[in-house]
Amino acid sequence: MTQAHDGGWIPVRKDFVDPATRCHARGASRRHHGFPEGQAYILRDAAGHEYPFGEDCARAALAQPALLRRVPDYTERDVVPRTAWPELPAAPRRRDAAQARAAERAAAIRYLVLRMEKVAAVPRVQPTVRFPALEDIYAQYQRSGDLAPAQVRRILAIERSPSTPPRLRATNLLDVYTAHVKLERLIAASTSVDNIRFLRSLHDWLARHLVLTAGQLAAAGIAMHPQAFTSAGIWGPEAEPPAAAGKARSGSLF
Ligand SMILES: [Zn+2]
Repeated sequence: MTQAHDGGWIPVRKDFVDPATRCHARGASRRHHGFPEGQAYILRDAAGHEYPFGEDCARAALAQPALLRRVPDYTERDVVPRTAWPELPAAPRRRDAAQARAAERAAAIRYLVLRMEKVAAVPRVQPTVRFPALEDIYAQYQRSGDLAPAQVRRILAIERSPSTPPRLRATNLLDVYTAHVKLERLIAASTSVDNIRFLRSLHDWLARHLVLTAGQLAAAGIAMHPQAFTSAGIWGPEAEPPAAAGKARSGSLF
């Protein structure tokens, strides 16, 4: 899965990119386009460097465009209209064992990277996000770019474990990451000191509690997936991970 394919490009993930980012495949007959939706496919070259590509350009760069279906998608909880992303070439309808393994691998990588890297790197995020039991696997993944089947099973077992708080499960961490990206974009684009202060307070709340209410999302002007922050068990008195308990401020942001 991680060997270089024709042209040396390895599909790594679909992720958010800064809206000012330009597609790496700017040559040939294509115009040097940007990413108005703020999402791109990230491909890695033979030297290990990662570059953003539009979907069509990523497909053109890969000998097996269907591999784009197998990368972790960190943008799934955004609200980009699906029509903006034309269908990839039809894959066989039958979901064979190899496809199931590929889907589990992508899910495991996504959870590992969300927990140990993307959400863990959110400023002032609560320390329960970065999980000591995943440190070794994460270090190996950083070195090799891949996971062994036993590591995939271990990661998915942690994600599903009853001892993993609901706010630290995959879908909620994806919501946190998505809201974080969107708040940072709004903060970067805002010219009002009061608005920036308000957005930063929401961002701090998100970092500490790993949730935002529908009211907070609306007040910030963030459009997200209609089911954002509604995963099972993330609300209620038992929902907060232990480190957040007792540190919660008054509910003024609700
Ligand atoms: Zn392009």
